[in-house]
Amino acid sequence: MDQKAVQNALNTIREIKGSHTFYDIHVHPFEVMFDACQYRHSPGYDGLYCSSSSTYKAPEITEVNLHQDLAKPGETLDPKYRAMACLLNARRFYSHTGPVVFADQMALCGIDKVLLLPVMAENESGEAQMNAMCRMFGQSDKFMTAYSVPNDIPNDDVDAQMGRIVAKYNVRALKIHPSVTGIDLGCQKGIDRVESLLAAANNNGLKVVIHGGKSPNCKNSQAISYGIIQNLRNIDWSIISEPVIIAHGGCFGYGYEEAKETIVPILLNLFESHDHLSFDTSAIGIELLSHLFERFDSKRILFGSDALYEKQWISILKLWCGLTLSNKKLEKSLLDILCLNAIKIFEVKKVMSI
Ligand SMILES: [Zn+2]
Repeated sequence: MDQKAVQNALNTIREIKGSHTFYDIHVHPFEVMFDACQYRHSPGYDGLYCSSSSTYKAPEITEVNLHQDLAKPGETLDPKYRAMACLLNARRFYSHTGPVVFADQMALCGIDKVLLLPVMAENESGEAQMNAMCRMFGQSDKFMTAYSVPNDIPNDDVDAQMGRIVAKYNVRALKIHPSVTGIDLGCQKGIDRVESLLAAANNNGLKVVIHGGKSPNCKNSQAISYGIIQNLRNIDWSIISEPVIIAHGGCFGYGYEEAKETIVPILLNLFESHDHLSFDTSAIGIELLSHLFERFDSKRILFGSDALYEKQWISILKLWCGLTLSNKKLEKSLLDILCLNAIKIFEVKKVMSI
Protein backbone atom coordinates (compact mmCIF):
# COMPACT_ATOMS: atom_id res chain seq x y z
CA MET A 1 0.00 0.00 0.00
CA ASP A 2 1.65 3.27 -1.03
CA GLN A 3 1.62 6.32 1.20
CA LYS A 4 -1.25 7.99 -0.68
CA ALA A 5 -3.46 4.89 -0.41
CA VAL A 6 -2.67 4.67 3.32
CA GLN A 7 -3.60 8.32 3.83
CA ASN A 8 -6.82 7.90 1.83
CA ALA A 9 -7.88 4.89 3.92
CA LEU A 10 -7.13 6.74 7.16
CA ASN A 11 -9.10 9.75 5.88
CA THR A 12 -12.10 7.54 5.08
CA ILE A 13 -11.95 5.99 8.56
CA ARG A 14 -11.90 9.51 10.02
CA GLU A 15 -14.99 10.46 7.99
CA ILE A 16 -16.86 7.45 9.34
CA LYS A 17 -15.66 8.31 12.84
CA GLY A 18 -17.27 11.75 12.80
CA SER A 19 -17.71 12.78 16.43
CA HIS A 20 -17.39 9.23 17.84
CA THR A 21 -14.70 8.45 20.41
CA PHE A 22 -12.28 5.78 19.18
CA TYR A 23 -10.68 3.33 21.65
CA ASP A 24 -7.60 1.12 21.53
CA ILE A 25 -7.94 -1.31 24.42
CA HIS A 26 -4.59 -3.07 24.00
CA VAL A 27 -1.46 -0.97 24.38
CA HIS A 28 1.55 -1.48 26.64
CA PRO A 29 2.98 1.55 28.45
CA PHE A 30 6.41 -0.14 28.66
CA GLU A 31 8.31 -2.97 27.08
CA VAL A 32 6.82 -5.98 28.90
CA MET A 33 8.49 -9.04 27.36
CA PHE A 34 12.11 -8.50 28.38
CA ASP A 35 12.88 -5.41 30.45
CA ALA A 36 11.20 -3.99 33.50
CA CYS A 37 10.33 -0.33 33.05
CA GLN A 38 13.58 1.54 33.28
CA TYR A 39 12.91 4.99 31.91
CA ARG A 40 14.07 8.42 32.83
CA HIS A 41 12.39 11.69 32.12
CA SER A 42 13.74 13.41 29.01
CA PRO A 43 15.18 16.67 30.29
CA GLY A 44 13.29 19.70 29.04
CA TYR A 45 10.60 17.60 27.35
CA ASP A 46 7.33 17.21 29.27
CA GLY A 47 5.59 13.86 28.88
CA LEU A 48 8.53 12.07 27.25
CA TYR A 49 10.56 9.28 28.89
CA CYS A 50 13.52 7.42 27.45
CA SER A 51 15.40 4.17 28.03
CA SER A 52 18.29 4.92 25.69
CA SER A 53 20.30 7.86 24.48
CA SER A 54 18.56 7.95 21.07
CA THR A 55 16.59 11.03 20.04
CA TYR A 56 12.80 10.75 19.93
CA LYS A 57 11.35 10.79 16.44
CA ALA A 58 7.58 11.23 16.07
CA PRO A 59 5.88 8.44 14.05
CA GLU A 60 4.75 9.18 10.51
CA ILE A 61 2.64 7.60 7.82
CA THR A 62 4.66 5.72 5.22
CA GLU A 63 4.00 3.12 2.57
CA VAL A 64 3.41 -0.25 4.17
CA ASN A 65 3.24 -3.94 3.38
CA LEU A 66 0.28 -5.13 5.46
CA HIS A 67 1.22 -8.78 4.92
CA GLN A 68 4.60 -8.28 6.56
CA ASP A 69 3.53 -10.18 9.69
CA LEU A 70 3.71 -13.38 7.65
CA ALA A 71 7.48 -13.09 7.67
CA LYS A 72 8.60 -11.25 10.75
CA PRO A 73 12.31 -10.45 10.86
CA GLY A 74 14.19 -13.26 12.49
CA GLU A 75 11.49 -15.89 11.97
CA THR A 76 13.87 -18.16 10.07
CA LEU A 77 16.76 -17.72 12.52
CA ASP A 78 18.06 -20.17 15.09
CA PRO A 79 15.94 -19.72 18.28
CA LYS A 80 18.91 -18.26 20.21
CA TYR A 81 19.49 -15.52 17.62
CA ARG A 82 15.78 -15.05 17.15
CA ALA A 83 15.40 -14.27 20.88
CA MET A 84 18.20 -11.72 20.54
CA ALA A 85 16.56 -10.16 17.46
CA CYS A 86 13.25 -9.90 19.35
CA LEU A 87 14.92 -8.32 22.35
CA LEU A 88 16.66 -5.71 20.19
CA ASN A 89 13.45 -4.97 18.28
CA ALA A 90 11.47 -4.58 21.51
CA ARG A 91 14.07 -2.18 22.92
CA ARG A 92 13.97 -0.17 19.71
CA PHE A 93 10.16 0.10 19.71
CA TYR A 94 10.23 1.16 23.36
CA SER A 95 13.25 3.45 23.33
CA HIS A 96 10.77 6.17 24.34
CA THR A 97 7.39 6.15 26.04
CA GLY A 98 5.04 8.55 27.80
CA PRO A 99 1.97 10.64 26.95
CA VAL A 100 3.78 12.44 24.10
CA VAL A 101 4.70 9.17 22.35
CA PHE A 102 1.16 7.76 22.59
CA ALA A 103 -0.51 11.08 21.70
CA ASP A 104 1.61 11.15 18.52
CA GLN A 105 0.58 7.58 17.63
CA MET A 106 -3.09 8.31 18.38
CA ALA A 107 -3.14 11.54 16.38
CA LEU A 108 -2.09 9.72 13.20
CA CYS A 109 -5.15 7.47 13.18
CA GLY A 110 -7.86 9.22 15.20
CA ILE A 111 -7.66 7.18 18.42
CA ASP A 112 -8.94 9.14 21.43
CA LYS A 113 -8.48 6.77 24.36
CA VAL A 114 -6.26 3.81 25.14
CA LEU A 115 -6.17 1.13 27.83
CA LEU A 116 -2.65 0.75 29.25
CA LEU A 117 -1.72 -2.85 30.04
CA PRO A 118 1.23 -3.43 32.36
CA VAL A 119 2.45 -7.04 32.67
CA MET A 120 4.23 -8.41 35.73
CA ALA A 121 7.25 -10.61 35.01
CA GLU A 122 7.46 -14.02 36.68
CA ASN A 123 9.67 -12.89 39.58
CA GLU A 124 8.56 -9.28 39.79
CA SER A 125 6.84 -7.97 42.90
CA GLY A 126 5.80 -4.64 44.34
CA GLU A 127 4.26 -1.60 42.69
CA ALA A 128 7.10 -0.08 40.68
CA GLN A 129 5.26 -0.54 37.36
CA MET A 130 2.01 0.92 38.70
CA ASN A 131 3.83 3.87 40.25
CA ALA A 132 5.83 4.60 37.12
CA MET A 133 2.85 4.19 34.80
CA CYS A 134 0.59 6.45 36.82
CA ARG A 135 3.33 9.04 37.29
CA MET A 136 3.83 9.17 33.51
CA PHE A 137 0.25 8.83 32.23
CA GLY A 138 -2.00 9.61 35.19
CA GLN A 139 -2.72 13.22 34.32
CA SER A 140 -4.85 12.69 31.21
CA ASP A 141 -8.22 10.99 30.71
CA LYS A 142 -6.93 9.71 27.34
CA PHE A 143 -5.27 6.92 29.32
CA MET A 144 -7.16 4.21 31.18
CA THR A 145 -5.15 1.95 33.44
CA ALA A 146 -5.03 -1.79 34.00
CA TYR A 147 -3.32 -3.79 36.75
CA SER A 148 -1.27 -7.00 36.61
CA VAL A 149 -1.12 -8.96 39.89
CA PRO A 150 2.36 -10.08 41.05
CA ASN A 151 2.89 -13.79 41.71
CA ASP A 152 3.94 -13.27 45.33
CA ILE A 153 0.41 -12.23 46.37
CA PRO A 154 -1.24 -15.47 47.62
CA ASN A 155 -4.60 -16.40 46.07
CA ASP A 156 -6.42 -15.65 49.32
CA ASP A 157 -4.99 -12.11 49.45
CA VAL A 158 -5.59 -11.12 45.82
CA ASP A 159 -9.04 -9.63 46.45
CA ALA A 160 -7.87 -7.29 49.23
CA GLN A 161 -4.71 -6.31 47.29
CA MET A 162 -6.76 -5.54 44.19
CA GLY A 163 -9.17 -3.42 46.20
CA ARG A 164 -6.26 -1.37 47.55
CA ILE A 165 -4.70 -0.93 44.09
CA VAL A 166 -8.03 0.04 42.48
CA ALA A 167 -8.58 2.74 45.12
CA LYS A 168 -5.02 4.05 44.88
CA TYR A 169 -4.52 4.10 41.10
CA ASN A 170 -8.02 4.36 39.64
CA VAL A 171 -7.61 1.05 37.83
CA ARG A 172 -10.25 -0.02 35.26
CA ALA A 173 -9.11 -3.46 34.18
CA LEU A 174 -7.05 -6.51 35.09
CA LYS A 175 -4.41 -7.78 32.67
CA ILE A 176 -3.49 -11.47 32.79
CA HIS A 177 -0.56 -12.72 30.72
CA PRO A 178 -0.07 -16.39 31.63
CA SER A 179 3.23 -16.75 29.69
CA VAL A 180 5.06 -13.62 30.86
CA THR A 181 3.79 -13.86 34.45
CA GLY A 182 4.42 -17.61 34.52
CA ILE A 183 0.94 -18.95 35.28
CA ASP A 184 0.79 -22.49 33.88
CA LEU A 185 -2.79 -22.98 32.72
CA GLY A 186 -1.94 -26.54 31.72
CA CYS A 187 -2.17 -27.54 35.40
CA GLN A 188 -4.72 -27.10 38.20
CA LYS A 189 -2.52 -24.71 40.19
CA GLY A 190 -2.50 -22.25 37.28
CA ILE A 191 -6.24 -22.57 36.73
CA ASP A 192 -6.85 -21.94 40.46
CA ARG A 193 -4.65 -18.84 40.22
CA VAL A 194 -6.54 -17.38 37.27
CA GLU A 195 -9.90 -18.21 38.84
CA SER A 196 -8.82 -16.34 42.02
CA LEU A 197 -7.84 -13.38 39.86
CA LEU A 198 -11.21 -13.47 38.07
CA ALA A 199 -13.16 -13.67 41.34
CA ALA A 200 -11.23 -10.68 42.70
CA ALA A 201 -11.74 -8.71 39.47
CA ASN A 202 -15.45 -9.39 39.71
CA ASN A 203 -15.59 -8.16 43.33
CA ASN A 204 -13.66 -5.04 42.42
CA GLY A 205 -15.59 -4.22 39.25
CA LEU A 206 -12.61 -4.73 36.91
CA LYS A 207 -12.85 -5.77 33.27
CA VAL A 208 -10.34 -8.42 32.24
CA VAL A 209 -7.92 -8.62 29.31
CA ILE A 210 -6.20 -12.01 29.04
CA HIS A 211 -3.52 -12.97 26.53
CA GLY A 212 -4.80 -15.58 24.10
CA GLY A 213 -2.51 -17.84 22.11
CA LYS A 214 1.15 -18.78 22.24
CA SER A 215 3.85 -16.38 23.27
CA PRO A 216 6.78 -17.40 21.04
CA ASN A 217 9.06 -14.59 22.24
CA CYS A 218 8.62 -15.37 25.91
CA LYS A 219 11.89 -15.43 27.90
CA ASN A 220 10.85 -18.66 29.66
CA SER A 221 10.59 -21.22 26.85
CA GLN A 222 8.56 -23.57 29.12
CA ALA A 223 5.84 -20.89 29.33
CA ILE A 224 5.25 -20.26 25.61
CA SER A 225 1.96 -22.20 25.49
CA TYR A 226 0.51 -21.35 28.92
CA GLY A 227 -2.17 -19.09 27.42
CA ILE A 228 -3.32 -21.18 24.45
CA ILE A 229 -7.07 -21.44 23.87
CA GLN A 230 -7.01 -25.17 24.69
CA ASN A 231 -5.99 -24.09 28.22
CA LEU A 232 -8.27 -21.05 28.42
CA ARG A 233 -11.31 -23.23 27.76
CA ASN A 234 -10.66 -25.10 31.05
CA ILE A 235 -11.21 -21.94 33.10
CA ASP A 236 -14.59 -21.42 34.73
CA TRP A 237 -15.52 -18.08 33.12
CA SER A 238 -18.86 -17.97 34.95
CA ILE A 239 -16.92 -16.89 38.08
CA ILE A 240 -17.00 -13.38 36.67
CA SER A 241 -19.87 -11.36 35.23
CA GLU A 242 -17.66 -8.40 34.24
CA PRO A 243 -16.59 -8.36 30.56
CA VAL A 244 -13.57 -10.48 29.66
CA ILE A 245 -11.56 -9.72 26.51
CA ILE A 246 -9.42 -12.49 25.00
CA ALA A 247 -6.48 -10.70 23.40
CA HIS A 248 -5.45 -11.48 19.81
CA GLY A 249 -8.66 -13.50 19.28
CA GLY A 250 -6.79 -16.32 21.02
CA CYS A 251 -4.66 -16.64 17.86
CA PHE A 252 -1.29 -15.13 18.80
CA GLY A 253 1.60 -17.13 17.38
CA TYR A 254 -0.49 -19.18 14.91
CA GLY A 255 -0.55 -19.14 11.12
CA TYR A 256 -3.82 -18.59 9.25
CA GLU A 257 -4.72 -22.22 8.53
CA GLU A 258 -4.00 -23.52 12.03
CA ALA A 259 -5.87 -20.64 13.65
CA LYS A 260 -8.85 -21.14 11.35
CA GLU A 261 -9.03 -24.93 11.79
CA THR A 262 -8.01 -25.32 15.43
CA ILE A 263 -8.38 -22.09 17.43
CA VAL A 264 -11.45 -20.36 16.00
CA PRO A 265 -13.84 -23.32 16.57
CA ILE A 266 -12.86 -23.45 20.26
CA LEU A 267 -13.29 -19.68 20.56
CA LEU A 268 -16.74 -19.91 18.95
CA ASN A 269 -17.74 -22.58 21.47
CA LEU A 270 -16.55 -20.50 24.38
CA PHE A 271 -18.41 -17.44 23.08
CA GLU A 272 -21.62 -19.46 22.74
CA SER A 273 -21.43 -20.50 26.38
CA HIS A 274 -20.40 -17.12 27.82
CA ASP A 275 -22.06 -13.87 26.73
CA HIS A 276 -19.53 -11.68 28.54
CA LEU A 277 -16.55 -12.80 26.45
CA SER A 278 -15.21 -10.71 23.57
CA PHE A 279 -11.87 -10.51 21.77
CA ASP A 280 -9.48 -7.85 20.54
CA THR A 281 -7.94 -7.49 17.08
CA SER A 282 -4.32 -6.94 18.13
CA ALA A 283 -1.49 -8.61 16.19
CA ILE A 284 -3.80 -10.55 13.83
CA GLY A 285 -3.12 -10.64 10.08
CA ILE A 286 -5.71 -9.34 7.58
CA GLU A 287 -6.79 -12.72 6.23
CA LEU A 288 -7.46 -14.15 9.69
CA LEU A 289 -9.13 -10.92 10.81
CA SER A 290 -11.48 -11.15 7.86
CA HIS A 291 -12.32 -14.76 8.78
CA LEU A 292 -12.96 -13.78 12.42
CA PHE A 293 -15.21 -10.89 11.30
CA GLU A 294 -17.30 -13.35 9.31
CA ARG A 295 -17.63 -15.86 12.15
CA PHE A 296 -18.26 -13.48 15.10
CA ASP A 297 -20.81 -10.77 15.82
CA SER A 298 -19.09 -7.37 15.62
CA LYS A 299 -20.62 -6.58 19.05
CA ARG A 300 -18.04 -8.97 20.51
CA ILE A 301 -14.92 -7.51 18.93
CA LEU A 302 -12.80 -4.59 20.14
CA PHE A 303 -9.93 -2.80 18.48
CA GLY A 304 -6.51 -3.44 20.00
CA SER A 305 -3.17 -2.53 18.44
CA ASP A 306 -0.50 -3.97 20.77
CA ALA A 307 1.33 -0.64 20.45
CA LEU A 308 4.17 0.07 20.63
CA TYR A 309 5.11 -3.44 19.46
CA GLU A 310 2.83 -2.72 16.49
CA LYS A 311 2.24 0.74 15.07
CA GLN A 312 -1.27 1.90 15.92
CA TRP A 313 -1.99 3.32 12.46
CA ILE A 314 -0.93 0.04 10.83
CA SER A 315 -3.21 -1.94 13.16
CA ILE A 316 -6.17 0.25 12.26
CA LEU A 317 -5.40 -0.23 8.55
CA LYS A 318 -5.38 -4.00 9.07
CA LEU A 319 -8.77 -3.74 10.75
CA TRP A 320 -10.04 -1.69 7.81
CA CYS A 321 -8.68 -4.12 5.19
CA GLY A 322 -9.94 -7.16 7.13
CA LEU A 323 -13.43 -5.66 7.28
CA THR A 324 -13.33 -4.75 3.59
CA LEU A 325 -12.51 -8.36 2.70
CA SER A 326 -15.30 -9.74 4.91
CA ASN A 327 -19.02 -9.68 4.32
CA LYS A 328 -19.62 -7.25 7.23
CA LYS A 329 -21.33 -3.89 6.93
CA LEU A 330 -18.22 -1.73 6.89
CA GLU A 331 -19.32 1.44 8.67
CA LYS A 332 -21.47 -0.21 11.32
CA SER A 333 -18.81 -2.80 12.18
CA LEU A 334 -16.05 -0.21 12.29
CA LEU A 335 -18.00 1.91 14.79
CA ASP A 336 -18.85 -1.16 16.90
CA ILE A 337 -15.24 -2.33 17.04
CA LEU A 338 -13.53 1.04 17.53
CA CYS A 339 -16.13 2.82 19.63
CA LEU A 340 -19.49 1.45 20.75
CA ASN A 341 -18.36 -1.86 22.29
CA ALA A 342 -15.63 -0.14 24.32
CA ILE A 343 -18.08 2.50 25.56
CA LYS A 344 -20.41 -0.24 26.72
CA ILE A 345 -17.58 -2.05 28.53
CA PHE A 346 -15.53 0.81 29.94
CA GLU A 347 -17.80 3.84 30.24
CA VAL A 348 -21.28 2.63 31.13
CA LYS A 349 -21.51 2.13 34.87
CA LYS A 350 -23.00 -1.17 35.96
CA VAL A 351 -26.38 -0.69 37.67
CA MET A 352 -26.03 -2.41 41.03
CA SER A 353 -28.90 -4.75 41.81
CA ILE A 354 -29.88 -4.93 45.48
ZN1 LIG B 1 0.06 -7.23 24.12
